[in-house]
Amino acid sequence: MINEINPDVYISTEDIAARTKEIGNAITKEFRGEEVVVLCVLKGAFIFCSDLLREINLPTKLEFISLSSYGANTESSGNVIMEMDVTSNLEGKNVIIVEDIVDTGLTMKFLLGLLEQKKPKTLKVASLLHKTSRTQVPITVDYLGFEIEDKFVIGYGLDYAGRYRELPYIGVLNAGN
Ligand code: 5GP
Repeated sequence: MINEINPDVYISTEDIAARTKEIGNAITKEFRGEEVVVLCVLKGAFIFCSDLLREINLPTKLEFISLSSYGANTESSGNVIMEMDVTSNLEGKNVIIVEDIVDTGLTMKFLLGLLEQKKPKTLKVASLLHKTSRTQVPITVDYLGFEIEDKFVIGYGLDYAGRYRELPYIGVLNAGN
């Protein structure tokens, strides 16, 4: 039987929306007069990316890339593989990677290396969350939603064992869950 579980709210829907609007405005300001490619990292970033895209007031193109880190459950192993590549040429484009969370930084380091080979004009990182205390590889997050503590978070696209992506807020599983 599947229990109905309501994880504790860690970052509210309203706070996410307000911060996403600010990030959209910052991107709009920085790239005024240019086109940007918004690159959504599947699966976790799909909700943040769809909200952020609608806060960017510029000509945009949307691309997807799918990465998977294997070997561990709630921790990145650093063994990242690309499951699905982008479908258009990124050479000479302003690319903004949109990620759900930067934890150790290993996934983003892998992705930056991969994308640099595609010779974009600019390459920026937008991430909703950053667990700075867990950094193994320092990553510059150009557009950051929230710096968070070392907690395993779920919701707003982020999963635990494939579940909870539909929660409208960022939550934490409490002891009872
Ligand atoms: P990193 O390579 O930076 O350690 O980890 C990045 C990936 O690990 C994220 O894209 C995400 O898939 C997963 N991850 C790291 N921390 C969390 C977390 O607190 N919650 C969830 N759901 N995924 C996480």
